[in-house]
Formats: sequence, C-alpha cells, structure tokens
Amino acid sequence: MKVGIVGWRGMVGSVLMQRMSAEKDFELFDSVFFTTSNAGGDAPVVTRGERTLRDAGDVKALAACDVIVTAQGGDYTNDVFPKLRDCGWNGYWIDAASALRMKDDAVIILDPVNLPVIQQALQLGGRNFIGSNCTVGLMLMALDGLLKADLIEWVSAMTYQAASGAGAPQMRELLEQMGHAHASARDLLADPSSAILEIDHAVSTSLLSDQLPVRHIGAPLAGSLIPWIHDDLGNGVSREEWKAGAEANKILGRPAMGEPGSVVIDGICVRIGAMRCHSQAMTIKLRADLPISDVEKILSNANEWVEVIPNNRDDSIRELSPARVSGTMSIPIGRLRKLAMGPEYISAFTVGDQLLWGAAEPLRRMLRMLIK
Ligand code: NAP
Repeated sequence: MKVGIVGWRGMVGSVLMQRMSAEKDFELFDSVFFTTSNAGGDAPVVTRGERTLRDAGDVKALAACDVIVTAQGGDYTNDVFPKLRDCGWNGYWIDAASALRMKDDAVIILDPVNLPVIQQALQLGGRNFIGSNCTVGLMLMALDGLLKADLIEWVSAMTYQAASGAGAPQMRELLEQMGHAHASARDLLADPSSAILEIDHAVSTSLLSDQLPVRHIGAPLAGSLIPWIHDDLGNGVSREEWKAGAEANKILGRPAMGEPGSVVIDGICVRIGAMRCHSQAMTIKLRADLPISDVEKILSNANEWVEVIPNNRDDSIRELSPARVSGTMSIPIGRLRKLAMGPEYISAFTVGDQLLWGAAEPLRRMLRMLIK
C-alpha cells in the first residue's frame, strides 16, 4: 500500500508525524510526502518513505497513492480533491480539514465513538474519511458512555478553547501578548510594596494599547478572552457553535439535530489563553434520573482514554486543567454532580488536547484501519 501525506509540516501534520512515528505506522506502508512550497526538497526520513518531496498539486503523483492523508487545509482540499476524483482516482482520502465533513459521501471519523458508522461506510464502498472539529471530537470522547447508552437528551457546552485551534501564528502571538502585558508591569512587580491597582492599571492599559500584537488573533487574548470563534452565521450563532450539533449527530450516525433521534447540542464557544488544550463546561439533560455513581461508571467504561476525575477540589484542580492534559491522550472528565435544575440535570467539565484526539489521532487510526 502506498500512502501520500500532505500537510505533514503544519501544526496538525507535525503532531500526526510524531504519533505515526511513535506508533511505528510507517513500517506498515510505503509513503510519499507532498508539499505546496518545496517540491524536490528533502522529505522527512521515515521507514519505507520516498526521500524527495513531491508537488502537492501534481494530480498524477497523488493518484498513484492508494491512500492520501492530508492536514494541509480546506483550500487545498477544495482545489485538489475534485480534480483527483474527476480523473478517476478511487483511493481513500483522509482529511483534517472541514471542507468535506458534511458531504453525504463523507464519514466523520472518531473510531472509539463511531466505529460501526465507519465500518458500515467501508462496507458500502466509502472512500472519504474526515476528522471532526476538535471541540466536538473531544466532547464526544468524554461523553462516549452516556451517548452509547442513549442517556443524553441534550447538552449545553460552554467552551474554553485554546489558541492552537486558531493556528500556529495565534499561539505565538498569545505568548507575545503575555510578554507585552508582563513588560508593562515588570518594574511594579519587582517592587513588593507597589499597589495592585497600579499593576492592574498598567496591564489593562497595555492590553488595549495599539502596541499589543493582534495581527493574527485580532483582539487581546492574554489576560482576557474572546467570546466568538469562527464565522458569524448571521443568526447569532458562530460557525464553531453550529458545528457542535451538526457534526456530533453525523459522527454518531444519528438524524440531523432537531430531528427525532438526534441529540441536541448547543452552547457558546469561547477562545481563552490556553496553548493547545480545549476545555468544556457542560450542562447535560439525561433521559433518566441516574445516580452520579452510575454516570461515573458508564463514562469511565466507555473507552480507554476517558478518565473520570472525582468531584472534589484537589482532584479537580490537579487533573482537570489544560496544563495537566497538554500533550497527552487522556480525556479527563469531572465536576460531575446533580444540578439544582432537577434530578436529570448534571454538570460535567472535560479537557482534551485538541491536536491529538482533537485532530491528528483519528486520522492515523483511520489509516491503520484501512491497512488492516
Ligand atoms: P498549518 O499549521 O497552517 O499548516 C498547513 C500548511 O501550511 C503546512 O502543511 C505547510 O504546507 C504550510 N506552511 C507554511 N508555512 C509554514 C510554517 N512556517 N510551518 C509549517 N507549515 C507551514 O495548518 P494546521 O493548523 O495544521 O491545520 C491544518 C488543517 O487541519 C486545517 O484545515 C485545519 O482547519 C484542520 N484542523 C486544525 C485543527 C487545529 O487545531 N489547528 C484541528 C482540527 C482540524 P507546505 O509544507 O506544503 O508548505
């Protein structure tokens, strides 16, 4: 089997390469690396890999692959994918970009949650397998057990999304903003007797000054937050918020949100100053009045990555933070308790690395599945 890899040096692509190397995936197939900027250059050195980078716009070279895995982005997909299919290529397309996600002939891949949906698509000759939105994927990994048991009527998710979800330049700019804010108060901080309101004033002023770097993020994020992610759909809903209900029901193989049999998922998506872990605070309406101990058991038995964190102060602070989870495959979920709204309403808080389970991991697992 020959696998073409596009977008391997981007943010998602780099994490994908790390994971594929760690899991020795490259030993299982011949690989060819493509580029939009450096054709003829050196390819990354992997077992059974071609040594020279191919042009990612070369449809003939792409069509020689049995599988193409791309984390290059939606513009690339929109440009190249139709040309490939038009020339009769019948290989498997595995993609991190959202461009094809909601197409009828595409399956959104998150195999711990929707293996039967993926298997059915493969049996029916499906060829297009697309990674989910990061926040949606992480939520479904965390709620897997309750969803599989069909115990959820609706979820309201309020998100705390990391800068990495916007891109590498935004991660860099977040740190620059932090440095800018710190520099504005450095002298005051060095003096233990300085007044806190003076420090606060210096930082607040720096965050609104035209010296603050905002070219990529567009607003202060360090020491602040941004309560809108992605496009404005014109009806008060952001595209990121729309994706939750739309993608989640498609991933689960359920009817579109709002139709009988669907799960209703909605909420507000917020960018915060974390680097690469998304967090979500959820209000969940269960279909039954279950004891919390049952909820914990159902959640923790669902897949090998979800981890129920006891709902106490110390465990919550230690285990349910982006700082703790960053760079790991773990999906902790905690703050589980009954809410005052009634016995079927529970709270939950979950954290996940949006570049691992939120982006790269489902792609490499799909590739593994095809190889099997
Ligand atoms: P990215 O970092 O911008 O990388 C995309 C491409 O940009 C690279 O493959 C590379 O292509 C090119 N590039 C130009 N300058 C670069 C540089 N200095 N360093 C590295 N690459 C550079 O994109 P991404 O954030 O990984 O996202 C890729 C796709 O995954 C998007 O469709 C995105 O929506 C989707 N996705 C992203 C996330 C996320 O968390 N970021 C989550 C889920 C899905 P060449 O090598 O051809 O030049």
